[in-house]
Amino acid sequence: MKTPEGELFRDSIGTINEEGNRAWIFPKKPSGKFYDKRKTVSYFLLAFLLLAPFIKINGNQFLMFNVLERRFNIFGFPFWPQDFHLFVISMIIGVIFITLFTVGFGRLFCGWICPQTIFMEMVFRRIEYWIDGDRGKQIRLSKQPWNAEKIRKRVLKWFVFLIISFIIANVFLAYLIGSDKLIKYITDGPFQHVGTLIPLIIFTALFYFVFAWFREQVCIIACPYGRLQGVLLDNKSVVVAYDHKRGEGQSGRKKIRKNEDRQALGHGDCIDCFQCVHVCPTGIDIRNGTQLECVNCTACIDECDTMMDNVGFPRGLIRYASEDNIEKKEKFKLNPRLKGYIAVLTILIGVLAGMLALRNEVEARVLRLPGQLYEHKENNIISNVFTYKLVNKTSKTIEDVTFKLRKYEGEIKLVSTSTNFSVPEQGIAEGTLFIEIDKNNLSGDKNKLMIEVYSGDLLIETTTVNFLGPRSYK
Ligand code: SF4
Ligand code: SF4
Repeated sequence: MKTPEGELFRDSIGTINEEGNRAWIFPKKPSGKFYDKRKTVSYFLLAFLLLAPFIKINGNQFLMFNVLERRFNIFGFPFWPQDFHLFVISMIIGVIFITLFTVGFGRLFCGWICPQTIFMEMVFRRIEYWIDGDRGKQIRLSKQPWNAEKIRKRVLKWFVFLIISFIIANVFLAYLIGSDKLIKYITDGPFQHVGTLIPLIIFTALFYFVFAWFREQVCIIACPYGRLQGVLLDNKSVVVAYDHKRGEGQSGRKKIRKNEDRQALGHGDCIDCFQCVHVCPTGIDIRNGTQLECVNCTACIDECDTMMDNVGFPRGLIRYASEDNIEKKEKFKLNPRLKGYIAVLTILIGVLAGMLALRNEVEARVLRLPGQLYEHKENNIISNVFTYKLVNKTSKTIEDVTFKLRKYEGEIKLVSTSTNFSVPEQGIAEGTLFIEIDKNNLSGDKNKLMIEVYSGDLLIETTTVNFLGPRSYK
């Protein structure tokens, strides 16, 4: 489309053609320095993603997001509903961290770390290259009629995609319900747990749909992070960028001809070979500037560097650079916005580390039974009734639990349980208790009592309650 000033711009995304249909992308198989590095990073991340729910630290799953039971483990730290504030802070830190990185380094996360890119480009796409061949062969195969070759390749590819989607769905479930439960369900037999089998089939179908058909459109249409780029990036953000000053020269990009003096002719270094376009998994031309679809995968950098080597020009016509770097030949500097994000991030990480360090592994809550004041018993004893709840966040049973009063002389009597009880691992113990104190030991109608919780002789938690007595106490 043309603006009134006559400039050209796109008003549609790269994966939709002029008729509004899906423009299927057949990217060329990438190769080069960055692709090799991304492969190494992806092996590590794939191992991490697949193994994290099966790794245990102090008996706790390394990563778990059990939304249904509201139990979360992050790096082996179990978060209970009582720790919700910590969970929220760690999520905020995560969001600010990604924001900070985006302001400074564009979509570095998308290209190198995002599970969607890792699975799409490093697993499913590579299987596609292995079965269907490179770009040219894929285009030919898509156009050819359904003959034996096409049926064989399609069935094989879809079957392999389905198996991998099924594996990913199982791992995803291990993150959601916990790996112990998943393994138990598998060994029990899936039909014993139909309630879990159905979500597993749905997740498998969803992953298959995403990686076999929806593909790069996740990054372009569905991903909220991708849509944020427009507000986060500025001309100081480092992104995968085409050096238009160098590439266009004075008279624009031109195909290379033998023995021509390009400098004298004013041609830029771009030889208009379209290799950067053919290799792009989101189907764009990076030479048109930073675009919504670009996931900073670096494939075009590698491809252009190879072309530059072939024609004897310096590498880096497409490279990591900011708009300012290219326009003003400036070096990357921290701008005030970036400094602000770093300050906020440092404070939040400090707060989170402090909260984690001070966080109790056992949480005790003793609350007055609603509607109850106090009871005056014989021998001048004042009794108050409370409910208690003990949360054991560890993966070990806490044995021999008792309550004791600090400072005050009095007695704590548990209702319908023995004096010493245990709290199961990752579990809760709750009940009712009476606190009885001699009236002469009270200092008013409201007395703040501190209750100590012991496991054997070990003090594991303290909590306070208000103990009520009569107004005239002497
Ligand atoms: S423009 Fe380059 S970096 Fe961006 S998605 Fe395409 S190939 Fe990857
Ligand atoms: S790969 Fe490099 S030289 Fe070839 S069209 Fe792209 S920018 Fe120009």
